[in-house]
Amino acid sequence: MDCVFCKIVRHELPAEILYENDKVIAILDINPIHYGHALVIPKTHCLDFLSVKESDLHDVLHVTQKVARAIVTTLKLEGFNIFSNNGRIAGQSVFHFHMHITPRYPDDNIKFVLQLKSYDGGAMAEYADKIRHHIL
Ligand code: 5GP
Ligand code: ZN
Repeated sequence: MDCVFCKIVRHELPAEILYENDKVIAILDINPIHYGHALVIPKTHCLDFLSVKESDLHDVLHVTQKVARAIVTTLKLEGFNIFSNNGRIAGQSVFHFHMHITPRYPDDNIKFVLQLKSYDGGAMAEYADKIRHHIL
C-alpha cells in the first residue's frame, strides 16, 4: 500500500516515534504548526474519522490523551488543540486517519477566520431534525 503513514507504521520510513503499541503509533509531524506537534495514527489503514473502526478510534483517543499529557508537561503548555481533518476540502492531505495534537501559545495568531452565522426562524430546529433522522 502506497500510504506514507502505513510505511511509517511498518518502520519503512523514518519518523520520530513518541509512542507505539500494537494498535497505534504517535509521531512528530514533519511540518509542525509548533514544535512538538504530534500525530496519532491507527496502525490499520483507514481513510478518515468516518471509516475508522470503533475499537481503533477508542485506542487512538486513548493514546492522544496520553501523548497530549506528555506534550503539555514537557513544553509547560497552557493549552493545545486536538483535531482531525477529514476530506481534501477540510485540509486532509494524508488519507489515513490521524489526530493532530498541537501546542498553543499566547498570541500565536493561529485562528480559523470565521464569519459566524445565526439561525433564522425555525432553521435551527429544522437542521436538528434532519440530522437526528440520520443518527444510526
Ligand atoms: P492532514 O493534512 O492530512 O490533516 O495531516 C497530515 C500531516 O502529516 C501534515 O501535517 C504533514 O506535515 C504530516 N506528514 C506528511 N508526511 C509526513 C511524513 O512523512 N512524516 C511525518 N512525520 N509527517 C508527515
Ligand atoms: Zn495507510
